[in-house]
Amino acid sequence: MRVLIAGGAGFIGSHLADALLARGDEVIAVDNFLSGRPENIAHLMNHERFLFLEQDVTETLFIDGQLDAVMDLASPASPTDFATIPLEILAVGSTGTRNLLDLAVIKQARFFLASTSEIYGDPLVHPQPETYWGNVSSIGPRSCYDEAKRFSEAITMAYHRVHDVEVRIVRIFNTYGPRMRPNDGRVVGNFICQALRNEPITLFGDGHQTRSFCYVSDEVRGLISVLDGPLTGPINVGNPIEFTIRQLAECIVQLTSSASEIIAVPLPAEREGDPMQRCPDISLITSSLGWSPTVSLCDGLIPMIEAIRLELAL
Ligand code: NAD
Ligand code: UDP
Repeated sequence: MRVLIAGGAGFIGSHLADALLARGDEVIAVDNFLSGRPENIAHLMNHERFLFLEQDVTETLFIDGQLDAVMDLASPASPTDFATIPLEILAVGSTGTRNLLDLAVIKQARFFLASTSEIYGDPLVHPQPETYWGNVSSIGPRSCYDEAKRFSEAITMAYHRVHDVEVRIVRIFNTYGPRMRPNDGRVVGNFICQALRNEPITLFGDGHQTRSFCYVSDEVRGLISVLDGPLTGPINVGNPIEFTIRQLAECIVQLTSSASEIIAVPLPAEREGDPMQRCPDISLITSSLGWSPTVSLCDGLIPMIEAIRLELAL
């Protein structure tokens, strides 16, 4: 296949590019480095089936040749970004997604949207099946991201209905692994940095909130199974094993042999509306496509710790 990945220099997008190239596909990565990094794709720049275009997808895209799939992974995803670049996040989730849908129409390509578990907001149903409509604030600090993604899902389905575009929507749950920016504010990178520096590990609130962490190789395998499969979705892709944030901190302290103490700090203002629990119901993808995650949290944290140790020269 000839696949365009918007957000291809990002954390998940670059791993997706690796996986598609490994199976013989041709990849065009488009990115403006808003939250991605050139080093994520440096190893691909001389690959004969890889092309990189530095471009903002909120501007019209002109791509030569045929495309079989347009994959929309372009969006910052860290709550820290929600506070600093909310307008850019709203733009990429609305105009950006629309431009990519137009490209899919022109190229008669399959359109793939990377949506999010944030569609469920601070969920009142647990674990979250795709049929749950969510509990989302339209005005809180997370709303720029949550509402942009809800719009992305809505416009994707509208293009499907009006223009008959073949679409796939995945809802990604917390994913981690090498190439995440260590300082992007998301919890796994933050705790690893703090542990490696022997600084206090900061639990926001009491640390009893939960998340379910999926290692990036599992996540990418799930995304590709949806891309190739017959289901429009939305389809949850995540690891259903749930941890409290305190358990995550304890695990990282142990794996890094850190002297850090784990401390509770008040929830920062920009974290208002922090979901108290999050866990995917993955029965749909497991029963229909046979996908399930295989990498344990401990096994996945080790390569991420090593990547951050190298990057921070610690
Ligand atoms: P990331 O920030 O590493 O990757 C996003 C990429 O999109 C970056 O390289 C960024 O520069 C690029 N981008 C942003 N705006 C752009 C624009 N206007 N034009 C071109 N490129 C642009 O984040 P990620 O964690 O890899 O997330 C990838 C996708 O998966 C996002 O759509 C995100 O919403 C979704 N997602 C991720 C998670 C997760 O846990 N990592 C969870 C749910 C959903
Ligand atoms: N968190 C924390 N300390 C930190 C960073 C995050 O306790 O230094 C918590 C945060 O409040 C949230 C969880 O970890 O409950 C996951 O945060 P993250 O930013 O990774 O992503 P989210 O799932 O909230 O989008």
